[in-house]
Amino acid sequence: MTTTEVASVLLSLRDIRKYYMVGGQEVRALDGIHLTVDHGEFVAIMGPSGSGKSTLLNIIGCLDAPTSGTYELDGIDVSRMDETEQAHVRNQRIGFVFQGYNLLPRTTALKNVALPLLYGHHKDQVSLATAALEKVGLGDRLYHTTSELSGGQQQRVAIARALTMNPPLILADEPTGNLATRQSEEIMAIFQQVNNEGRTVVMVTHEPDIALFCKRMVIVRDGKVVEDGPVKDRRTAVAALAIPVAG
Ligand code: ADP
Ligand code: MG
Repeated sequence: MTTTEVASVLLSLRDIRKYYMVGGQEVRALDGIHLTVDHGEFVAIMGPSGSGKSTLLNIIGCLDAPTSGTYELDGIDVSRMDETEQAHVRNQRIGFVFQGYNLLPRTTALKNVALPLLYGHHKDQVSLATAALEKVGLGDRLYHTTSELSGGQQQRVAIARALTMNPPLILADEPTGNLATRQSEEIMAIFQQVNNEGRTVVMVTHEPDIALFCKRMVIVRDGKVVEDGPVKDRRTAVAALAIPVAG
């Protein structure tokens, strides 16, 4: 393998296991995951309910630690880091999007998006957060609170928040799970744009229609990868909103 090929690997998971003890019984949420993701990929993690998708995404996102195995992010062994170091990696390198949006209620879109910048002690919080919201087509909703936005709009705020620190990796767990088809397609249009800009996107979904907007499909069953390959008949999502290109 040449140096260039080594440098293009973003995520490397080797024999990742996550076991839980529940009522004296061992639950193998992850049972030996091997997965490599290069910079710039757009991966859908699919699989039935309870197959380990969220557990896997949480480990990739340094929200949870594996029971055993090795996980390297950009060549750094994050599986051995303490919680403070992992929090730093999350803030600097990873943007998260969840099914339930996880926004602060009674708080404006602008403040929700500026939050990661606050933790990172950033200057220009308002202008960076405004730019991120403009990018997802919500430049005219900066001062709306969470409850004044539709589900699709709330998810766009969550994506803007994930983008504010300019992370190379975006992780999303069932980001369209609460949305109607049309809103889902708008969300996928944004993820495709984010990926076209060179960011790596790893997304959990159990909807085959949604996975078609990704480039690679990894199927997980009983905590193991059972299929892994390029998406055939890939679709391009059409955004109903005027989303500015790049930026
Ligand atoms: P998916 O996201 O694919 O639906 P999960 O990753 O949430 O699946 O869960 C995988 C398995 O691990 C399930 O059997 C689930 O019940 C179990 N599990 C997940 N989290 C915990 C936990 N904190 N304690 C015990 N079991 C868990
Ligand atoms: Mg899940």
